[in-house]
Amino acid sequence: MTDIDRGKFGEVVTRLARHYNRKYSDAEREGLTRTYFNGLKAWALEDVIRGAERVIETSRRFPLVAEWQEIISAARRDRFVPCPADARQMTPAEILEHERAYALHYEDEPCSCGECVRANVDHLAIRFVPLDDEVAFNPKVGRLVPIGYWLHGEGLGRWYEAKRKFLTSATKAGLKPERLLVLVGGDREPGEDG
Ligand SMILES: [Zn+2]
Repeated sequence: MTDIDRGKFGEVVTRLARHYNRKYSDAEREGLTRTYFNGLKAWALEDVIRGAERVIETSRRFPLVAEWQEIISAARRDRFVPCPADARQMTPAEILEHERAYALHYEDEPCSCGECVRANVDHLAIRFVPLDDEVAFNPKVGRLVPIGYWLHGEGLGRWYEAKRKFLTSATKAGLKPERLLVLVGGDREPGEDG
């Protein structure tokens, strides 16, 4: 989970508290949510939510962080899928970089490498984008995912140019700015649909 998941995670905790009939003051609930968030943030939000559903089905009391974690890993083991024979598996370094890019919303500090300086984009945030034609198996999530790369130099320049053109034409077509930011912004995982 990343910081943007905090709100949704808070809802999950509230739901559990209601199910187990726990009454908390706002301050208590906040402290509890923070502790549980820190304890569980290594997992993806979808796993945490699925875990909470299992907790409700199987446990008679509000889970400890460790119990919740155990339920999540058990659920993951159950639905483990092997890498398809014709696909390559992501390297641990690639997985880390994809997770880092996700946490950064696919945008990192401007870069002053030779390529970026020559293309005159060294004042712009670099962007992480998926390559449509390259997928690999991510063993942590058990599925094929588009492989992304950080754009530099001319590639980065083209990305900003495409974004500018897209925004201009879409604004002319009457799309609302908030919606556009969702479409071109980085809040999605590479390859994830709207
Ligand atoms: Zn660069």
